[in-house]
Amino acid sequence: MAIERTLSIIKPDGVRRNLIGEILGRFEKSGLKVVATRQCVLSKAEAEGFYAVHKERPFFNDLVASMTSGPVVVLVLQGESAILRNRDLMGATNPKNAAPGTIRADLAESIEANTVHGSDATDTAAFEISWFFRGTEIFG
Ligand code: ADP
Ligand code: MG
Repeated sequence: MAIERTLSIIKPDGVRRNLIGEILGRFEKSGLKVVATRQCVLSKAEAEGFYAVHKERPFFNDLVASMTSGPVVVLVLQGESAILRNRDLMGATNPKNAAPGTIRADLAESIEANTVHGSDATDTAAFEISWFFRGTEIFG
């Protein structure tokens, strides 16, 4: 078991519905530490670059449009196995398939407006954290 860092984003639908505190509370109650936070509106280029891995997918343009539709809250979470623990807290991509008690089961509106992003592996976590934060902005 290793201490890891992972990138989380409270997506525009979550910010719009006043869920920032609810979601941060779930992370903190689970024992993950919030070691960096930033609220911003993603530009189209930032969203496209961040989600470049999905650029051939049919939902790419809709994903970029929804991620740029309003402010997001970008977080770095730190803790033992943080990447997997965050994915467990989030639940499945489609809220219809998400386990009860997960963020997406409880709070998400749809597969498009699914309220949170979370890195899925060590390499993507490192890429995604460096996309948003300099080392001096992370207080782990
Ligand atoms: P996750 O966010 O669970 O890691 P993916 O990385 O597969 O899921 O997809 C990134 C985001 O793209 C999802 O969170 C969701 O908002 C959107 N998305 C994924 N699959 C679909 C789909 N079939 N239709 C519409 N949007 C989708
Ligand atoms: Mg993903």
